[in-house]
Amino acid sequence: MSMNTMIKKGFCLVFAFCLPLSILALDLNDLRLNWYNELTGYPYDPEVIEIKNKITSLTSAGKKQWDAMIKDSGRSRLWNDLSYGSSADITESYDRLQSMALAYNLDGSDLYRNEQLKSDILSALEWMYMNQYNESTNDSGQNWWDYKIGAPLRLNNVIVLMYDNMPPDLRNKYLLPVFHFCPDVGHYTGANLVWIATVIAVRGIISGNETDVIYARNSLNPLFDYVTQGDGFYEDGSFIQHERHPYTGGYGTSLLATLTDLMTLYHGSSIDFSEENRNVVSEWIWRAFEPLVFRGGMMSMVRGREIARSATTDHKRGRSLVQILMRLRYLLPEESSLRIASLVKDWLISDKIFSDYYAYMNSIRAIKETKALIENTDIPVREVYEVYRQFPCMDRAVQHRPTYAVGISMYSSRIYNYENTNRENIRGWHNADGAIYLYTPDQNHYEGNFWATVNPYRISGTTVAENSTAKAKTLSEKSWVGGVGISGKYGCSGMFYESKDPVVSAKKSWFMFDDELVALGAGITNKSQVNVCTYIDQRKLVSDNRNVFTVDGVKQNALFGSDTAPLNLTGVTWAHLSGKYSGMEVGYYFPEFMDLKAIRQQQTGSWRDINEGGSTAVQKDYYLTLWKEHGNCSDDTDSDENRYSYVLIPSCTTSQLKNYCSDPDIKILSNTSSVQAVMEKTLGIIGANFWNNSTSQYVAVDGVPFLYCDKKASVMVREGKNEIEVSVSDPTMLNTDEIMIRLVSLAAGSIIRKDERVTVLSYEPLVLSFNVKDLSGRGLNAVFQKKELSSVERIQTDTVSFDLKYVSEKGDINLSVYSPKEQKALFRVTDMNGRLFVERELSLVSGMENYYLPSKFFSSGCYLLSLILSDRVISKKFIR
Ligand code: CA
Repeated sequence: MSMNTMIKKGFCLVFAFCLPLSILALDLNDLRLNWYNELTGYPYDPEVIEIKNKITSLTSAGKKQWDAMIKDSGRSRLWNDLSYGSSADITESYDRLQSMALAYNLDGSDLYRNEQLKSDILSALEWMYMNQYNESTNDSGQNWWDYKIGAPLRLNNVIVLMYDNMPPDLRNKYLLPVFHFCPDVGHYTGANLVWIATVIAVRGIISGNETDVIYARNSLNPLFDYVTQGDGFYEDGSFIQHERHPYTGGYGTSLLATLTDLMTLYHGSSIDFSEENRNVVSEWIWRAFEPLVFRGGMMSMVRGREIARSATTDHKRGRSLVQILMRLRYLLPEESSLRIASLVKDWLISDKIFSDYYAYMNSIRAIKETKALIENTDIPVREVYEVYRQFPCMDRAVQHRPTYAVGISMYSSRIYNYENTNRENIRGWHNADGAIYLYTPDQNHYEGNFWATVNPYRISGTTVAENSTAKAKTLSEKSWVGGVGISGKYGCSGMFYESKDPVVSAKKSWFMFDDELVALGAGITNKSQVNVCTYIDQRKLVSDNRNVFTVDGVKQNALFGSDTAPLNLTGVTWAHLSGKYSGMEVGYYFPEFMDLKAIRQQQTGSWRDINEGGSTAVQKDYYLTLWKEHGNCSDDTDSDENRYSYVLIPSCTTSQLKNYCSDPDIKILSNTSSVQAVMEKTLGIIGANFWNNSTSQYVAVDGVPFLYCDKKASVMVREGKNEIEVSVSDPTMLNTDEIMIRLVSLAAGSIIRKDERVTVLSYEPLVLSFNVKDLSGRGLNAVFQKKELSSVERIQTDTVSFDLKYVSEKGDINLSVYSPKEQKALFRVTDMNGRLFVERELSLVSGMENYYLPSKFFSSGCYLLSLILSDRVISKKFIR
């Protein structure tokens, strides 16, 4: 009985039920059946309408390749459009043969077991072996990926599909180049590692080589350890490929897809993946993938150069992820499995790009799983997803609100600006220069031809020299890039931006609260005659240009301005852009008024402009672009021209926006090249980015100092009715010590929860130290019971105060002192009877500083610590 006969007789159904049971000995035939079923989707009912439709489309895809194939014996190529001048044509040939072999294997297909098709596939395999891909093929000057990954992955699949129709010696002959090009997994990492392991595993299964199958499985072990540099998944959810490129939505998704294939392959066997491994894969889903998908679309900012491929839009990539997760959920622990089902259901239902749930599903298996998921009313849709996530190891941040999501894309001394490889993504110059990706319910915004028609010189959110470009794969010299979140939902990010040619620098901050994003820029300088601009938004409009754009109550024309003569708008307080439907609006609020330039026009471009392999067809989209000009040649870091502030308020009506502007939730507390800080009054949250190491830097509220921070840091403080929450991170990742913050008008009672790296130096006022050494930018968090303000001795800003940080075993004292000015002071330790133990003169600096006093005091007991100033004495009791 052949394998296919077994399938027809329902063998697979029985086999599927047996899967959870461990197979004691490794049976390569069983593994091959696992793989065959993944490729074909067996077992299925070809009469179910959605499956029937898929069989029809897979059949016509296979037939199209078969019809176009050159079949005469003297052929010099298999298809007219493939010249084999490039190695990609080898991969493409096996891809087409796989599509034909699949149609041959599908029960219900017109081509099922078609003898002529079979013989044409086999003859094409022989032609490929003789002419293009064998153990003597010269691969020099070509793309290694095709020989080691692209071609063998597909060739293996064709052999598995045609297995029963090929004698063993033929199968083994066609595998010779696979052995030649993939002797082992080599030094490959991340997605490439999983691909090569798959090539070796499937080859082993076909050739009956158990060693290969076990080796491939074991070669994946390093994948389940989080990396701290280079390619792979990081503990903070970042995913890097090609050393320093963020790639969750590109290579990260491919890795997950191929790993899911392998997990399916080994499932139930004696060398199946451990529960520990499977738990790590679950963590990736929640940490790395979920935050980067909005309503089924994978965010462009983690798709690298793939954004330049017209066929791979955000939503198509998202749908790939959906298909992976629907299979993966059967391979992960139960708790994860249920959560994944709800997540995928949410993405399927909320995605409005596709005509139905089954569109862009590439396999019968995916169709089957989608139907099961949608029809199972016991599986709830994921609850409203409100989250703020910082990805310090890939310089990205993201926030999800109920009606919108926002992504911040940055680069630094650790992460490259953009990838342009194989002439793909030629104009990605500014996509990580502090770019803002705002996702409203208008899911079409980044879809369609966005990347072909967007003006790449004017990417939303960036502060760059006019008409400037940038070299790909470039690091910045600045390490201060990152941020911190609070309460899991809100956050602030910052980027010390600096371009190389021309040299332009800026301190940029983004504060993300409940219904707004506040963008601040300061210290914008440049050393050349170039005009520097901050692009507030470049928004793609509805295809019929129906959006209404209103500025300070005045409705603007449907088209205005041009690249050479933009419209001038002076002293703007607010602007509003309506969407295709209600809820798709964007409001812009300018708290300090702003003179703006604006253009509303149709923009043209082609995919060829950004990708050498793209189509030259001219694409057109309407756009509205808003920006502020900072002028040229300025090194005045804190002038008004060299600053900006604006607030994005998505999904609001004009009247809601007007109300907001007349009584804004937010207040800008500082926007200088030293400190950028914003308060959200209704939430009671302050976010602050401190750009320097300085004991005198602080944020004041209504002129009264509120928050001191002694080091470069991103800080958020939430003052609730009964709680105080504090989050701090070191975005530079270079601090090997502590960050101390001091909340001079807040007092805390007990600790509700805190990271063990947080030390409470004082409760009244609240003074905290955060040990950020080796944290790679991760935020630390602490929550306290709030004490009534009336019980706090409010610290006056003109008075000196001090806290004892610690006393070492030997008796050395570490003290922090706040002084409003430079002055001399005497520090004394006495016992309660006045007996002197330590006396040291201190030269106090202005602001907060730590003082280290070597001393040799003392046995246990109660002591009095005193700071003696020219006009007064401050004393505290201390029990040792
Ligand atoms: Ca708000």
